[in-house]
Amino acid sequence: MKVMKFGGTSVGKPERMQQVAKLIVQDEESKIVVLSALSGTTNALVEISNALSQGDKSGARQQIQALQDHYKIFYNQLLVAPPALEKATACINEHFEFLNIIVKISFSEALNKDILAQGELLSTKLFSIYLEEIGVDHLLIPALDFMTIDNYDEPQIGSIKVKLTQILQRNKGKKIFVTQGYISRNAKGEVDNLKRGGSDYSASLIAAAIQASVCEIWTDIDGMHNNDPRVVTKTVAIEQLSFDEAAELAYFGAKILHPASIWPAQFYKVPVKLLNTMQPTSKGTLITELAGSSGVKAVAAKDGITVIQIKSSRMLLAYGFLRKVFEVFEKYRTSIDMVTTSEVAVSVTIDNDVQLKEIIKELEPFGTIEIERNQAIVSIVGNEINETKNVLQHLFNSLTDIPVRMVNYGGSHHNISILIPKEYKTKTLQLLNKGLFGLE
Ligand code: ADP
Ligand code: ASP
Ligand code: MG
Repeated sequence: MKVMKFGGTSVGKPERMQQVAKLIVQDEESKIVVLSALSGTTNALVEISNALSQGDKSGARQQIQALQDHYKIFYNQLLVAPPALEKATACINEHFEFLNIIVKISFSEALNKDILAQGELLSTKLFSIYLEEIGVDHLLIPALDFMTIDNYDEPQIGSIKVKLTQILQRNKGKKIFVTQGYISRNAKGEVDNLKRGGSDYSASLIAAAIQASVCEIWTDIDGMHNNDPRVVTKTVAIEQLSFDEAAELAYFGAKILHPASIWPAQFYKVPVKLLNTMQPTSKGTLITELAGSSGVKAVAAKDGITVIQIKSSRMLLAYGFLRKVFEVFEKYRTSIDMVTTSEVAVSVTIDNDVQLKEIIKELEPFGTIEIERNQAIVSIVGNEINETKNVLQHLFNSLTDIPVRMVNYGGSHHNISILIPKEYKTKTLQLLNKGLFGLE
């Protein structure tokens, strides 16, 4: 059994959704199809939620109406037969009525999550109605019946596995299952989600849970490229990546994959394929244990980074200093991405500054604390890059005009990271495209 996940653009137009149906019936293997919301929907739901959190009920109502109009046009182009159209009308009315009821009650974080869940609920229901119309036997299985996260927002893979296996056991004759990406239930049993872009994570968790033969991520580009195509004009697809390389790229900003989406597949040894819905015959990227080749493969960038520097003469020759510093970050569940040390100072970077105030307060007894916000991490990823000839030379020759603030080299065999002010991100990616890949 395999997993096929289709992102927002892959289902964002009626003809694309029809193409998805073709792709899933084309191959014989039984499958779980994971769908995102239609492109633009989650953004619209975020706006509706924001309007409600600010008490702007009439703004929210207008946005809900605009979204409903969009769905009406969508399903009238997707479907033909009157029974299917009736079902779609009832489905759309139900979900938008729900949104309109939410407008009337007082806003809360739990309701926010309910609002955000509507996108994936709508896309999967419409897809299921379409499959029924064209006579494709399938079963829609609600992700909220098996996808759960704990108190710390971590997916409960053990319980996901048990619940999903039971569902599949009960429906042995079925070959096509359809479910929602992104949405989950939290420890309180409320509707929640796996954060933006989370459908990739859902797909990987499902693939791990059922020990799928492959986890296919179908999107709007032919695989992982060597650089961010939104920033750099000329980029090329990478044929093969190891799980470690793909995980680094996803974590350090390659939007094609949710930051956490590789570990479930890696841990449960399920190959991942990145494929293009619009060009289904193009090779895409295969991600397995094997790297395929050595050397630099790709660069990615992640902004919104904060540097914290702790300067202390007490650090001089003191053992146990770093442990105490790291314990503060552990206490506030804030992960550190980059670390550099000298005899008198240590600098660390974080991408989540929600608890920064508390962290600074606890670090102050250790020395002088300096904070710099608005930084970006640029990661250079590849297999055995620390053994690749002249890689540092090429890297620094390309960046003579960039004020590099930190460098991490040697932390792993497949990553070199540099920290730069965010405003240099685009220029850095462009310079590296030329300096490391010879692409302009
Ligand atoms: P989906 O809606 O299918 O989940 P996303 O928009 O989340 O699609 O991810 C695909 C997009 O990721 C591409 O259209 C591309 O602009 C962007 N992207 C950023 N970095 C990379 C990269 N290194 N390789 C490929 N795509 C990338
Ligand atoms: N619909 C969600 C989002 O836009 C999840 C996803 O597309 O992966 O973030
Ligand atoms: Mg995505």
